[in-house]
Amino acid sequence: EPDPLLRPEPRPEDADRALRPQSLDEFIGQAEARANLAVFIESARRRGAAMDHALFHGPPGLGKTTLAQIIARELGVNFRMTSGPVLARAGDLAAILTNLEARDVLFIDEIHRLNPAVEEVLYPAMEDFELDLVIGEGPAARTVRIELQPFTLVGATTRLGLLTTPLRDRFGIPVRLQFYSDEELYEIVSRGARLLGVAAEEAGLREIAARARGTPRIAGRLLRRVVDFALVEGDGRLTREIADRALTRLGVDKLGLDGADRRYLRLIAEHYGGGPVGVETLAAALSEARDAIEEVIEPYLLQQGLVSRTPRGRVLGRRAWAHLGLAAPREPGQ
Ligand code: ADP
Repeated sequence: EPDPLLRPEPRPEDADRALRPQSLDEFIGQAEARANLAVFIESARRRGAAMDHALFHGPPGLGKTTLAQIIARELGVNFRMTSGPVLARAGDLAAILTNLEARDVLFIDEIHRLNPAVEEVLYPAMEDFELDLVIGEGPAARTVRIELQPFTLVGATTRLGLLTTPLRDRFGIPVRLQFYSDEELYEIVSRGARLLGVAAEEAGLREIAARARGTPRIAGRLLRRVVDFALVEGDGRLTREIADRALTRLGVDKLGLDGADRRYLRLIAEHYGGGPVGVETLAAALSEARDAIEEVIEPYLLQQGLVSRTPRGRVLGRRAWAHLGLAAPREPGQ
């Protein structure tokens, strides 16, 4: 079983707050998104208006929540946070919306998992800052309209395709977050080591960055684990040798892949001749939820060219055969 420490989803023991960048200037990477957001934030400030609604999409751990918090801070307004699955009834959302102050940022994580009845409430709220509430039941029921303060909704999703079109259309600022380059992750890990007060060799920090699966959350977590090894098995200094040993012990290979990634690749290689094979088949064989495969495992493997998506299913790339130490069939995927 893969070490759950290596999955990009948040975990309770992530002492994330210490490493979270607080301003747009401190935020590393996502250069295009950052430059555009800086303009939209500045424009909203000058107009004294709420910033337009923004939708962040991309794999977990890339900074969606962090960016939403930064937007609120730079706008000088309150940050309120909830998530799609938590908002069970329309009244839950109504209670949050009516408590917002002018120009506040409301962050809804996993917005693709909103209950349709709750989503209905969101449409007029986003469009006209109005709430239509149904009071009472049966023939006595009536609708009252409540005016809301203008606010900014920031939605986050790992699955853009699961958003309904009417909801998607109501976001004026769609932002796709990308995996981070090794260089960006190196900057993030260096900053983290500084904040944690750890003495580190550049080569040690680069080793962590190169094996962080393009994901700042994983980089932060690996950094903490390597620091543990440096303290207990070394002299406290984070060296390349300590980093390599610690990451290997944690099951993170040279490409930054973990046990779950390798099981996925090996399954396609050894049982399906390199594919094509459907994602449902892979999910059943791996005893993983299809969603977890599509949201967590595949995006990085696709980005790295280790696997590709075809109409007939997943196909292993040449690089994956080499990485697994297996000979590729002469015509892979045929
Ligand atoms: P998401 O909401 O996309 O799952 P988060 O915003 O919660 O991701 O970020 C995960 C962790 O990674 C946070 O603890 C944050 O400190 C760190 N992080 C994310 N983006 C950056 C960045 N650009 N620079 C430094 N740290 C980052």
